[in-house]
Amino acid sequence: MSDALDQFTRRMAQIKRLSEVAGLLGWDQQTYMPPGAAVGRGEQSAVLYRLIHDMLVGPETEALLSGAERATAGEDPESDAVRMVAAARRDFDRETKVPSDLVAEMSRHRAISHSVWVQARKASDFTAFAPALEKMMELTRRRAECLGYTEHIYDALLDVYEPGMKQADVARTFAELRPALVELTHAIGESSAPVDAALLHRTYPVDVQRTLTLSLAAEFGFDLRRGRQDEAAHPFCSGFNRDDVRITTRFDPDYLGQALYATLHETGHGLYEQGYPPQYDGTPLGAGCSLGIHESQSRLWENLVGRSRAYCEHVFPKLQAAFPEPLAGESAERLYRAVNAVRPSFIRVEADEVTYNLHIMLRFELECALLTGELAVKDLPDAWNAKMEAYFGLTPPSDAEGVLQDVHWSEGLVGYFPTYSIGNLVSGQLWNAIRKAVPDIEEQVRRGAFAELLEWLRANIHRQGRRYLPGELVQRATGEPLTSRYYVEYLRTKFGEIYAL
Ligand code: ZN
Repeated sequence: MSDALDQFTRRMAQIKRLSEVAGLLGWDQQTYMPPGAAVGRGEQSAVLYRLIHDMLVGPETEALLSGAERATAGEDPESDAVRMVAAARRDFDRETKVPSDLVAEMSRHRAISHSVWVQARKASDFTAFAPALEKMMELTRRRAECLGYTEHIYDALLDVYEPGMKQADVARTFAELRPALVELTHAIGESSAPVDAALLHRTYPVDVQRTLTLSLAAEFGFDLRRGRQDEAAHPFCSGFNRDDVRITTRFDPDYLGQALYATLHETGHGLYEQGYPPQYDGTPLGAGCSLGIHESQSRLWENLVGRSRAYCEHVFPKLQAAFPEPLAGESAERLYRAVNAVRPSFIRVEADEVTYNLHIMLRFELECALLTGELAVKDLPDAWNAKMEAYFGLTPPSDAEGVLQDVHWSEGLVGYFPTYSIGNLVSGQLWNAIRKAVPDIEEQVRRGAFAELLEWLRANIHRQGRRYLPGELVQRATGEPLTSRYYVEYLRTKFGEIYAL
């Protein structure tokens, strides 16, 4: 390795290690930290993130990055060194394009806007939140202008989460998906074969849930020597590096579905984080490709595997042994139907596989219109409710159950929502490729054999780290660009059978 590249790599590793420490503080804050420590933790995190930002954008890093680019110029564009320098360049440009006074103004306003939103949601009062949201959209527009774009202002923001993807790509994909989902939702609503999910809503002792969910994570291949599971109010996964990955879940003694599927979901994220190749550790390549690709991993294990009939047949005897009373007289088939109940609802985070993406489309359309100014903030609740009526046939009874339900806009996270749907679509597309590569995959899942599936994901997704942009990665893994086709086929087949359509 050349001297310039070596120095650059060392600098990147220092920054990465500091970020890992900051991440550990964040994990602790959401799991074990006593509530009284919040202010002090805020100070600690602020110092660390300031330090990380300064190191990342400082003149020394810029000089080392330019040196590394010169040192790797003309090398094989597929080499790790070239890919690593390109990833670092994208990060550096993104961090430096926005002037530090705008960054500071946004972070100040984020704190205010978030607490205003918390109060407004509690009171279900959108007008109380509107001024803070207006200012946040104004700051977000300024940020997008600094980041730059060629076609649509939204592109600048989307690129932060889903590098290389454009507003037009999302709009086109959603336009294909929307009629299929609206039609399927409607048909399920009219179905004469309703699903009874009552078996999930019985008393399930939390200590048993804790042991059981951990064993299910381990069975998928989550390495407990390099990871652990704890509890958090909003389950998440933090991977500091490949050898220290923390997943979290949440237990509800009266609803088994909560912890069971939160665990399978976060395990999908955790397997990805544990799967980066050791040689990428501490480098810009040792991370997930994008939010959408990350979500494809969690959705694949949660839904394509975890809500399949084969998995229900595998897991039901374990559940029944753990919870003999609430599951007495039940069957794998009844579990399968219960975990696949579809019901249009107001709340995105409670949505089923069929209606989930409609929630995302609604938000995507509204945030695009807010950003371009086509939609005024004051008209947002009416626009929200009109779309809820059009897509779901429902009118939210209050703003708290409508336009105020998500935290994202209060924090300036515009361009983030589509990554959830991209994750769903990619999970369907990957599953289609896996079924071709591993023809007996369903039989394997039924036996509780997940090693071959995990190895396919390791080879095609996990071990690629950040070598490719998400569009390239999907193309390489499946032989096709991102398409909604396989996800729609999957939903139609599965729910057509369950609901006798
Ligand atoms: Zn997730």
